[in-house]
Amino acid sequence: MGLRSRHAKGDWPGMSDEPEDKRRPLTRLAQTGRRAEWTRMPDRPGGIVNPPVWRASTILYDDVAHLRAAAGSDPHERLFYGRKGTPTAWSLADALTEMEPGAKGTMLYPSGVAAIACALMAVLKPGDRLLMVDAAYDPTRAFCEKMLRPLGIDVDYYDPLVGAGIAELLTDNTRAIFMESPGSLTFEVQDVPAITAVARERGIVTLLDNTWATPLFFPALKHGIDISILACTKYIVGHSDVMIGAATATPELWSKLRSAAYLFGQMTSPDDAWLAARGLRTLGVRLSQHQDGGLKVAQWLAERPEVAQVLHPALPGCPGHEIWARDFGGASGLFSMVMRGGDKDAVAALIDGLAHFGIGYSWGGFESLALPVHPAGYRTATQWDAAGPVIRLHIGLEDPDDLIADLDAGLARYRAAL
Ligand SMILES: *Cc1c(COP(=O)(O)O)cnc(C)c1O
Repeated sequence: MGLRSRHAKGDWPGMSDEPEDKRRPLTRLAQTGRRAEWTRMPDRPGGIVNPPVWRASTILYDDVAHLRAAAGSDPHERLFYGRKGTPTAWSLADALTEMEPGAKGTMLYPSGVAAIACALMAVLKPGDRLLMVDAAYDPTRAFCEKMLRPLGIDVDYYDPLVGAGIAELLTDNTRAIFMESPGSLTFEVQDVPAITAVARERGIVTLLDNTWATPLFFPALKHGIDISILACTKYIVGHSDVMIGAATATPELWSKLRSAAYLFGQMTSPDDAWLAARGLRTLGVRLSQHQDGGLKVAQWLAERPEVAQVLHPALPGCPGHEIWARDFGGASGLFSMVMRGGDKDAVAALIDGLAHFGIGYSWGGFESLALPVHPAGYRTATQWDAAGPVIRLHIGLEDPDDLIADLDAGLARYRAAL
């Protein structure tokens, strides 16, 4: 196996997209982030499988010459000071970079929202204008309104289905376009290649919140994105017990991204990075089961009279479904359903009695969740006027037939409450 030869000392994490790396994504998932320098003791035979947890604030130098040399060198992969990370975080960053072909490097953050905020701050300055997708995750929108706008950065929202029509929205000061595909709560799939093609021509930076698909189902940089962002809290960690975020950049934007993260003092706990790296190893099998279970439940719901529409990118009724079919390698386990009639009491009757679904924010763990959501309150460029209330479901790793039986009883409660 090529682990040692591929990772000569001093390599950048992003060196992995060298043309000779022909490994398929699942093979990469198993091998990545395991450099010999992190898993073997110098001059001793053998080694361990996973890089250990290196906890550190102070880094000890051998002598003053070493200290001086370290200060002048790039700290991203050299022990320098705890805030710049240790091999535990570098290993996770390395792995996320390798999962995103075309990437130069990955920065880690204490949450997905921190990754979004810091990536935006890396590419925007006062006087610039940002185009933000109207179906953005609510805290992303709040960051635009409460932080970017007061800093003198103009923000306009656009229809997630705009596609190449984004060209008509550009102005001379448009500096960045932010996408989230599929959209939060409503799951519109964006035409990322069309938007990035327009952006590239005009020298505009593109960012994507890729949390739903992960690079396994949507390699973002291959589709023209400059900075791909993950709330690793969700599927990368996969066990609902760690908050962590990541942003992965092209060679052109890598130094800007890294510099902003350092200036904002962003860092992650090595224990959290280690847990995220552990989650990453099983991302392939987990996502494929989330996909199968999610599809089975979604297709069953689509046939039910109580359900007006299932917003699942892999189902034909979902806006942008053709784009999902064209660009994505799969679907994860999160989707919404629009109920036919009914009100908030009927929604509560459905959700409160569920035996196998938790009620809670976040998603991407092994367990199923159900949540009433209200898309109308989080959009300005488009209108949300659906037939009834919306419920978002995360399909975990349980047997989908148990989940279907649970939802069947839930829909009976819904009918009774109409
Ligand atoms: C949860 C989520 C985030 C934020 O991640 P945190 O780790 O909770 O800060 C960002 N984008 C999307 C699409 C999410 O679902």
